Amino acid sequence: MRDGSVGEETLVGRGLISDDIKNRIRDRIDIANVVGQHVSLKRAGQNFVGLCPFHQEKSPSFSVSPSKQMFYCFGCKAGGDVFAFLTKITGASFPEVLRDLGDKVGIVVEESPTERIQRGQTHRIEEINRASMTWFQANLRDPHIGATAREYLHERGIQPSTVETFQIGVSSPEWDGLFRFLSRKGFSHSEIMTAGLGTRRTNGNGYYDKFHGRLMFTITDLRKRVVGFGGRVLGDGMPKYLNSPDTPLFKKGQTLFAFDLAREAIVRTKTVIVVEGYFDAIALHQAGLTHTVATLGTALTTEHIQTLRRFADQVVLLFDPDAAGVRAALKGLDLFVNSGLGVKVVTLPAGEDPDTFVRKEGAEAFAQLEAAAPSLLDYALNHTIKQADAGSLEGRIRSVDEVLRILQKSEHPIERQERMRIVAERLGISEARLIERYPMLLAQPKRGVAAPRTQPAEGIPLNALFKGLPEERDLLLLLLHGKLSPADVRRLRPESFSVAPCRKLVEIALAHVDREGRISLRSVLDESVGDPDCGALATELSMREDHFDDVPAYVKACLDRLDQKRSEQTLRELIVSLKTAEREGRADDVRELNLQINEVRMRKAGTPTAGGVTLVKE
Ligand SMILES: [Zn+2]
Repeated sequence: MRDGSVGEETLVGRGLISDDIKNRIRDRIDIANVVGQHVSLKRAGQNFVGLCPFHQEKSPSFSVSPSKQMFYCFGCKAGGDVFAFLTKITGASFPEVLRDLGDKVGIVVEESPTERIQRGQTHRIEEINRASMTWFQANLRDPHIGATAREYLHERGIQPSTVETFQIGVSSPEWDGLFRFLSRKGFSHSEIMTAGLGTRRTNGNGYYDKFHGRLMFTITDLRKRVVGFGGRVLGDGMPKYLNSPDTPLFKKGQTLFAFDLAREAIVRTKTVIVVEGYFDAIALHQAGLTHTVATLGTALTTEHIQTLRRFADQVVLLFDPDAAGVRAALKGLDLFVNSGLGVKVVTLPAGEDPDTFVRKEGAEAFAQLEAAAPSLLDYALNHTIKQADAGSLEGRIRSVDEVLRILQKSEHPIERQERMRIVAERLGISEARLIERYPMLLAQPKRGVAAPRTQPAEGIPLNALFKGLPEERDLLLLLLHGKLSPADVRRLRPESFSVAPCRKLVEIALAHVDREGRISLRSVLDESVGDPDCGALATELSMREDHFDDVPAYVKACLDRLDQKRSEQTLRELIVSLKTAEREGRADDVRELNLQINEVRMRKAGTPTAGGVTLVKE
């Protein structure tokens, strides 16, 4: 994400991705087709509608316009072109999305030499990984090589269809089986090393496989690229689990196992279950809890949470109820404190892990545990208080020091207060006593300390943009639907609109008037949709399908109303100037201002006012 936006800036900055390339690719892509691969769409008039993949809803407010090549959700205000849709739903960066789509339609997106080398390298690693995965899978099917692994999978209750879905395989017991296989396939030693699949022999002569005699889990990213592997030892070897090292294609701290398989269910339920092991994730998926992902031998990171936030509102964590589990809970509390995500902790009965529990008790029992699960805060409190000296009040307060230290970081005063109330209640003391110890819990967020919270344009509700007249909004809506005649366009004045986004949109529109005096819609949309001031407004208005009975009459009425408002404003300003001039005895100015005032009054009287015209909007 961060890499992506930096990449976009540098590429665009160097002029390597021109608007021209972007437009050419977009023109050859059918947005309804692309979106349709992620969302089930139904035709509704000019547009397609479906359930929004970016927020939870029961009736469709998500709309795709093939003619405008745009999507928009009237519920959560997510919107934009096909690139915006794909970056949002796949998590890929803008240049990646552009390049992928470009490949599909045969348009080459230029890149800098460094980028070309990097892309070549990651592409090559993906090829090596994919070849290796196929080899691991073939080993598992091999009557001789795969026998132990197949038996082990059977013992753990993993069904053959699950083995297929999760692309599970086995590495051969030989020391360099994979190395020899990949070399035969034309991969160089250094490429195999870069992919993290080889180790140099300690005596310096030659290489051997990083994974041998292990059950192999394929790790894929959201774009279904094979980015790395996790290997579980078959038998008693150490370490029990071994992962691919970080490579240019694979970052453990940013990757979650089974995310690509879970994404659809996560988006649907807005909930994600996070577990710690491959088998846990696989067992939950097999039991029908397909909104499950696993961390890869690392704790949750800020990057993980940022990724999860794009898809889910609720996170369900599974912790062991031991000391390590409590440490993990505290770490989680720290990470999640300002994430905006609701976090629950499910604790399994002693001696059970997610894998054994769900196999024995089933998904229904798990759902019950989940429903009754405490919030992460409650969980952390319960366990820290339990560990403290139960007899002394001071001891109990001290035990929650760590929890309170984290709560102080919350940027939301109301949330902080609510949590403080919970802590006080749990400790059986007054809130005042807690505040004495932690004054920061009550304090307002310090100015300039917290990161500036810039409201994304798409988050602004339309009504908030319209402190002005409904006529302004309707006029712009009709403008964006190509309903303004050249005569109407000539009457448009940015200064007649009362809010900044409207003024900006009119300015953009007037900059794209063709020789016949008509506004060129495609250019206006291209420029306005990406504009920080009026992008949200332009997207929403252009995707609305309001009905107007007599469009020409209504447009005229709107323009008249705006003209009238502008005259009134001018008049008010002139009168203020006149009064000042009179007070200061500037006779010449008084005469001039009186003339101007009369002129405005005459002009006003000469045009029909909006009050005399019936508005025909339904
Ligand atoms: Zn939505």
